[in-house]
Amino acid sequence: MNEQKIVEIDTVKIKKRLKQRKAKMKMSLSVCARCTLCADSCFLFNNNNKDPKYMPSYKFINSIGRIYKRRGKVDRAALEKIREIVWKDCVLCTRCYCPFGIDIPDMIAFARSICREQGVYPTFED
Ligand code: SF4
Ligand code: SF4
Repeated sequence: MNEQKIVEIDTVKIKKRLKQRKAKMKMSLSVCARCTLCADSCFLFNNNNKDPKYMPSYKFINSIGRIYKRRGKVDRAALEKIREIVWKDCVLCTRCYCPFGIDIPDMIAFARSICREQGVYPTFED
């Protein structure tokens, strides 16, 4: 049985967390040119038939990017989708390279930390 504790999503806390790193995150999200160059350096992308969902840019845009776009107003279902991306589709190996200087692993790690604070994280059953 899944033992993960169901807690109410605290959007005020998420908003506060976003504010702490607003400048860096805003810059990274606006700088991404969707050039896909980072994909070549991700072994998960290469080992999964170059499925676009494993592209590093896809992963940060659809995790922390999504949380930013909604200004922290995300529900549990949205965080659970993000959990799949930031834990299952990325191992934070830090190998992805962006010529524009975007720190992709840092952004994915930030999404993980927001999810974890809200009680959304992988369990042994996942
Ligand atoms: S993260 Fe960097 S390398 Fe990847 S698509 Fe965006 S700009 Fe290109
Ligand atoms: S940190 Fe994640 S996105 Fe970047 S190369 Fe590693 S698995 Fe791929």
